[in-house]
Amino acid sequence: MIQEISALAQVGYAPGGFSLTYLLIIGGSLLASFLISNTLKRRFTEYSQIPIRMTGGQVAAAMLRQNGITDVQVISVPGQLTDHYDPLKKTVNLSESVYGMNSVAAAAVAAHECGHAVQHQQAYVWLGLRSALVPAVELSSKLLNWVMILGFLGLHFMRSPTLLWIWVALFAVTTLFSIVTLPVEFDASRRALVWLETSGVAASMEHEKAKKALFWAAMTYVAAALGSLAQLLYFLMMALGRRD
Ligand SMILES: [Zn+2]
Repeated sequence: MIQEISALAQVGYAPGGFSLTYLLIIGGSLLASFLISNTLKRRFTEYSQIPIRMTGGQVAAAMLRQNGITDVQVISVPGQLTDHYDPLKKTVNLSESVYGMNSVAAAAVAAHECGHAVQHQQAYVWLGLRSALVPAVELSSKLLNWVMILGFLGLHFMRSPTLLWIWVALFAVTTLFSIVTLPVEFDASRRALVWLETSGVAASMEHEKAKKALFWAAMTYVAAALGSLAQLLYFLMMALGRRD
């Protein structure tokens, strides 16, 4: 989302002023992420009402144990949608509602985060690649923000082909990251669903719902990656077009 806003702010000083193509790309991306996150929220609200016999915290502990993982802690963290796996501290962080609730939605989220812990344990190649990209992405995002601020100051640097290529290169790093994130997220959900099914924690009807919830969660990453890729291609075309 931050990327989209950054890019949106750039429209004003893009070469040739407002470009309809660019506005369509940004508008399309924003609309897609809005619709997907709305569907995701609706599904999660609905599936939070369907009880199962374990809380998210218990699901996480059981899934880690059954995968032979003993050095990862499951902890409860404040906030909503704050669930994540921390590979440095080796903690599965679950938001308070996921940790303490016994619903299909909570189980799906908890098992998904444990899916990342299992990836880490098994040295899953895409997770390793994603982690390796983190420092580069942090640097690129910072530089992109600076470039954008300079643009706001009316320096019209985007008229310089060299700076446009720098923008393309920085944007390529963040786009690559959003693409490498996709196999990592899909694989974590796949591991979560396999475990929920084989452990018998979710009955078949509940399993279908967990599958739907995780599908829409994955779609938010797909929309972000496609939006980023469309913008990158646009900038690339612009840079190529200006190299007379
Ligand atoms: Zn994930």
